[in-house]
Amino acid sequence: MTFVTHLECSYTGERYRAGEVHGLSAAGKPLLVHYDLGRIGKALTKKELTARHGGFWRYREFLPVSHEQNRISLGEVMTPLIRLKHTEEKLGARGGIIVKDEGRLPTGSFKARGLALAVSMAKELGLSHLAMPTNGNAGAAMAAYASAAGMKTTIFCPDDTPPVNVEEIALQGGDVYLVNGLINDCGKIVGEGKEKAGWFDVSTLKEPYRIEGKKTMGLELAEQLDWELPDAIFYPTGGGTGLIGMWKAFNELEAIGWIGRKRPKMIAVQAAGCAPIVKAFEAGEEHAPLWENAQTAAAGIRVPAAVGDFLILRAVRASGGYAMAVAEEAIFEARDRIAREEGLLLCPEGAATFAAYEQSLKEGRISTSDRVVLFNCATGLKYPMPPVSKFIDRAKPVDYSQFK
Ligand SMILES: *Cc1c(COP(=O)(O)O)cnc(C)c1O
Repeated sequence: MTFVTHLECSYTGERYRAGEVHGLSAAGKPLLVHYDLGRIGKALTKKELTARHGGFWRYREFLPVSHEQNRISLGEVMTPLIRLKHTEEKLGARGGIIVKDEGRLPTGSFKARGLALAVSMAKELGLSHLAMPTNGNAGAAMAAYASAAGMKTTIFCPDDTPPVNVEEIALQGGDVYLVNGLINDCGKIVGEGKEKAGWFDVSTLKEPYRIEGKKTMGLELAEQLDWELPDAIFYPTGGGTGLIGMWKAFNELEAIGWIGRKRPKMIAVQAAGCAPIVKAFEAGEEHAPLWENAQTAAAGIRVPAAVGDFLILRAVRASGGYAMAVAEEAIFEARDRIAREEGLLLCPEGAATFAAYEQSLKEGRISTSDRVVLFNCATGLKYPMPPVSKFIDRAKPVDYSQFK
């Protein structure tokens, strides 16, 4: 049982039938899933929802999977909201700085949300071989959920993807290849192989269901904040699925009367070495041209071109938010400082959101009275960390004065 009515091209509004395999629309744009929200509002109460246990499958009425046996689960949790108390005090941030730590999900990143839905829908629609280009986390999540569903995966990564990501993909059953190029180059191989290798393309926003999984971040955040959305959300933006998904979640929640009209400022954070959305935002454009020579160690946001660019830009603008680039050094300085002072190890992409928050305070774009949510989208443990070389030679007397 599902509340889906149909799918719609996000650019032209052209309608598509539910229950069939879909990629992009005829116009080459992402398809979005539409629901009978009136019926969802009658079928489910806030109280019933809050009483349920577990992670994002709790929001099943808002999701497209019909049959329970197709809901693939690896033990998802509701990810915690963590206050940066020391930092709040230091900055005088009365409104509160809240990190939503998505690193607690299966495979260590929020890609689990999107890929659990994409894989579950692929299963429901009878697909058996999935392929994607990935900077690491998406591939790991797809391999894990597809293996759990008994499906085959073929995965292409840029050849400088962190080894831990490539290795976890392989261990979790993905047939993974390194490519001497960036994620869009890997995407070309996946696109071309559709006919020749017979796989289904699960690239970001090139099928309609990853975004439905990412939407659960918005549902979950609203529920955790007792249906009172924050003043601003800082989101590390690559393909933008999460930002678009949360925006969709807020609109669906308003349509069923669970929240009001208030929306957070949606702030798309990118790295200075790969900031196509920031450039388009500042130029007042609707689309973001390919960013040449994309460079940043925050692999999840090293996305030179996004099919959903116009959807990201529309949500950011409609929310009264903005797009902001942060310097590479600021990302790692923020990661190191938050780890040391708060005991919270952010991934570089998550650290970028904190750097953007600090920069926004300095520039007066955000106030200390604003309640802000920063998205930490993966566990910091998956990324290279500064080496440690301090050494004790136990054959010599230990100089205890050094530990004071
Ligand atoms: C994929 C990814 C992002 C970007 O997410 P989008 O929703 O595709 O923009 C950010 N951070 C990490 C760690 C990621 O894996």
